[in-house]
Amino acid sequence: MKLGAHQSISGGYSEALKRIANIGGNCLQIFSSSPRGWSSFQINNEAIEQWNNKRNELNIDPIYFHATYLINLADDSRIGHASKQSLISEMNLAPKLGIKGSIIHLGSYKGEPSSIKYSTLITNIKEILNKTSPKSLFIIENAGNRKIGQTLEEISQIVKDVNNPRVKICFDTCHLFSNGYKFENNNQLDKFLNQLSSLQLINQLECWHLNDSRDEFDSGHDRHDNIGQGKMNIDEFKVLLNHPKTKDYPFIIETPGFDKKGPDQKNLDILKSLIKL
Ligand SMILES: [Zn+2]
Repeated sequence: MKLGAHQSISGGYSEALKRIANIGGNCLQIFSSSPRGWSSFQINNEAIEQWNNKRNELNIDPIYFHATYLINLADDSRIGHASKQSLISEMNLAPKLGIKGSIIHLGSYKGEPSSIKYSTLITNIKEILNKTSPKSLFIIENAGNRKIGQTLEEISQIVKDVNNPRVKICFDTCHLFSNGYKFENNNQLDKFLNQLSSLQLINQLECWHLNDSRDEFDSGHDRHDNIGQGKMNIDEFKVLLNHPKTKDYPFIIETPGFDKKGPDQKNLDILKSLIKL
């Protein structure tokens, strides 16, 4: 079972490895730099070696970057350009650290979608893929409120139009719930997986974000909550963690934490208690 969390890189990348091991996780997501800025993180060879040693010692795998929240790939001016530069540098850093790639919120159409904004989005994603290591994955996270990638059909169209095997998908349970998708039993999850297959998305599925939702089902809001404290039925997590077709994916929490200090051991322990041995 691959169960981990987003952790802070405060104090250096290697600190995140220690943090995830301390709370009992075995896979990890980190920001490469400040999630609310454009600055790219500088890491020297010594720090890379330290990271690789610590990572092997603690056996943390897989590891993903989560891209900055400022990304908007449907923008054709300054923000779009900065988004591209930021992802290009992050996705080129990833393989040096054995990181699989970046999990990305694609951005927003800022008002009505248009064919021009959509083609900007596709062109930008293609350019990023062309300018980054073939080992690095571009992982689209399904969006919450009013952002690009809310429905399976929309994600499927983007994946089809970019047409590159390095494009993968990360589903966030909270964002699915806020957009009218839930699976509280195996039957409902089978239906969801069948829908993924018919949209040719099943092979793109890379990992899951496990978060409860502070907002109601189909609310269009996407605020995360601790597992069992939000509006979602805890059975949804049980179903995902035990279903033969989903249990082997990496699961990563981004919960606020019971002490509000970020993803914690208690959230992971609750999820572990749902796993049938
Ligand atoms: Zn997420």
